[in-house]
Amino acid sequence: MKMCIACGMPMTAIADYPLLDMSKNYCKHCAHKDGTMKTFDEKWHEVTLQYAQNHNVDNAVAKQTAYIILKKLPAWKRRW
Ligand SMILES: [Zn+2]
Repeated sequence: MKMCIACGMPMTAIADYPLLDMSKNYCKHCAHKDGTMKTFDEKWHEVTLQYAQNHNVDNAVAKQTAYIILKKLPAWKRRW
């Protein structure tokens, strides 16, 4: 089973892949409409909002946590 390199989500079904393309290493949530992978900044923003909502913390904390979460994933390890 593959795991999305950009968010860590397990990709178990073809529907999890961008444009149903199973050769991709990232999931549909991490892809633009045209199938290309989102940037670190885009994912950082998304994960921050999600985390702030799910854990009821303020934006600064969520942003910091989101950064740590993303930096553990293969897509972003070498950047920054
Ligand atoms: Zn993903």
